[in-house]
Amino acid sequence: MQGFQNIQSLAAGLRAGDFSSVELTQALLARIGELDGAVNAFINVTEDAALNGAKQADAELAKGTAGPLCGIPIAHKDLFCTAGELTTCASKMLANFTAPYSATVVDKLQQAGMVMLGKTNMDEFAMGSSNETSHFGPCHNPWDLSRVPGGSSGGSAAAVAAGFAPVATGTDTGGSIRQPAAYCGVSGIKPTYGRVSRYGMVAFASSLDQAGVFGRDVNDLALVLGAMSGFDARDSTSSEQADPWLEGLSDNPDLNISEPAKGTIGLPVEYFTDLSVGSAELEAVRLQLEGMGYRCVDVSLPHTDAAIPAYYVIAGAEASTNLSRYDGVRFGHRCEDPQSLEDLYERSRGEGFGGEVKRRILTGTYALSVGYYDAYYVKAQKVRRLIQQDFLTAFTKVDLILAPVAPTTAFAIGGVQDPVSMYQQDKFTIPASLAGLPAMSLPCGMHEGLPLGLQLIAPHFHERQLLECGARYQQQSDWHTQQPQVRA
Ligand code: GLN
Repeated sequence: MQGFQNIQSLAAGLRAGDFSSVELTQALLARIGELDGAVNAFINVTEDAALNGAKQADAELAKGTAGPLCGIPIAHKDLFCTAGELTTCASKMLANFTAPYSATVVDKLQQAGMVMLGKTNMDEFAMGSSNETSHFGPCHNPWDLSRVPGGSSGGSAAAVAAGFAPVATGTDTGGSIRQPAAYCGVSGIKPTYGRVSRYGMVAFASSLDQAGVFGRDVNDLALVLGAMSGFDARDSTSSEQADPWLEGLSDNPDLNISEPAKGTIGLPVEYFTDLSVGSAELEAVRLQLEGMGYRCVDVSLPHTDAAIPAYYVIAGAEASTNLSRYDGVRFGHRCEDPQSLEDLYERSRGEGFGGEVKRRILTGTYALSVGYYDAYYVKAQKVRRLIQQDFLTAFTKVDLILAPVAPTTAFAIGGVQDPVSMYQQDKFTIPASLAGLPAMSLPCGMHEGLPLGLQLIAPHFHERQLLECGARYQQQSDWHTQQPQVRA
């Protein structure tokens, strides 16, 4: 089944003439057509664009000089702008929005010859941890259709897990790549803030939003991340710190990990104190890493508990300003028959946004208002600095950090109703987001039939150490090769 092959084997199949990119794309579109009614991983399947892209890729492949991503299908989270195709952000507000340009990420992957299959489901404006806030209905976890795939990039994680696409893009503001990767049993990486351009990504919390990728294994993550990365003058926080190794991976797609591992991995004690599932699995990972040559030690990240409150103040504040652009005037949902300008704003926004998005706008506006700014917003920024400092101190002693991804496995759709309980989902992913660090989630076990993930966190711009450690782990484990049985 081509849907479950990694890029390396698909690229080899394309070059051996086992199948063309058009045939591969058709096979995946057929699988999506058969099973996505049950999964709901896609908001839009872009069939015509996919087949056109695949035809072009076949022409490139025939020349014999195409790179390893040429002709490989990919799904994009529906918050990356795609010229000529809808970009909804899973919101009624943007349900009919077609962006006039494509995100840098989308352009770069297209230039590498990748074939866009469609746009994936997500929490509305990327606000959520379960994909349940989507205007287009929840996405279902391919391992158990009654459960959530995680969020906000739930559709992308589910698309890879269900064998609809070998890789998919996602974004991570507080955990939206790592947590769904863990829940769906796939690999996912969020790079350093600034590594990948945010141009053309619909903004949620601009100081935190970062694009990344889901795939079957670390090798695939490295390849696609390499092609996505790099300075972009159109994103003012894009970093000029290049990584020639990462960006050059397309010439030499194999991670060279034959040498014995060296380095120290820290396990933050605060992350393991009240872990409900996964302790035994993470202990097994620790032993495996030690067996490879890594030294594992305990570290402390003392301000961990303050991360969730600080994040929900900062992310809400940024969201409230970013989302003020949706006023029904130039684009987005507009109410019927407005009576005045104020009525137009009020009803367009009232009708266009869902409940969770409104909650973030209201709390964010409150935190930024005169009289509360110092008490909430400024204080949250100070806490953010302390959390960054915790990591910087830890990284003077260790090279990488090993942690859980989420406190539970995938929960039932409708099972977490209270917003504050939902926010607790992110307690192990938000600290690295606040610090802008690269982090990765890899499958490391199964608990009652549902996947579990491990998280690795690296210092800023040390994606290479992260990817090499992950690739070594996958050389000695097979959790990433497990597949769910998806039924229509
Ligand atoms: N679950 C977190 C939130 O709701 C993170 C979302 C994300 O990373 N986009 O804000």
